[in-house]
Amino acid sequence: MAGIGVLALQGGVVEHLEHLQRLGVGATPVKKAADLDGLAGLIIPGGESTCLRRLLHLYELDEAIAERFRAGLKLWGTCAGAILLAKRVVDGDPGLALIDIEIARNAFGSQLASFNTVADVPAVAAAPIPLTFIRAPKITALGPGVRSLLRIDDYYAAAEDDAILVTAFHPELTPSLAFHRYFATKCGIATVEADEVDWRPGDW
Ligand code: GLN
Repeated sequence: MAGIGVLALQGGVVEHLEHLQRLGVGATPVKKAADLDGLAGLIIPGGESTCLRRLLHLYELDEAIAERFRAGLKLWGTCAGAILLAKRVVDGDPGLALIDIEIARNAFGSQLASFNTVADVPAVAAAPIPLTFIRAPKITALGPGVRSLLRIDDYYAAAEDDAILVTAFHPELTPSLAFHRYFATKCGIATVEADEVDWRPGDW
């Protein structure tokens, strides 16, 4: 059965794998090009985008991911992963450059400016979703063909085109499975009814 991979070079890997497993989705850590075989989707996790960009090149995964993407692999970048997928990085170099967005790194300030919040994301779930932002970027512009999923103040926090999802925040660090379910659906993968309603705003 086709599953979803999580790029496992650096950053928040295990939490993504666990969220996928809770949904009954086959979840594979991806460390080399051959690990992409048979996958319907790939999550590029949060971490440090300059470090991840270098590692992707060192392990020759940048070309391999671009090639699989052209063959239909769906992609989701969380935080640093979204930076790597963006075609335009304010004051920085693009990485994989596959989705037509502009993104500004560290746009809230230092690590101390990290925060949790809750938002309605109607395309993704009927109930409000908890969000955690860690030294997060802001998506500052969307090109044609890219849709906003969540706009907050002066930036987009989540957006997508037909093949790529980008989130400035980290759904894998919250109890909610909503974004993982949404990405699995985008990949054409059915999910089990998991313990979705497992958090209340007061508990988190
Ligand atoms: N600030 C990091 C970067 O620019 C991203 C932070 C994250 O992924 N939580 O790479």
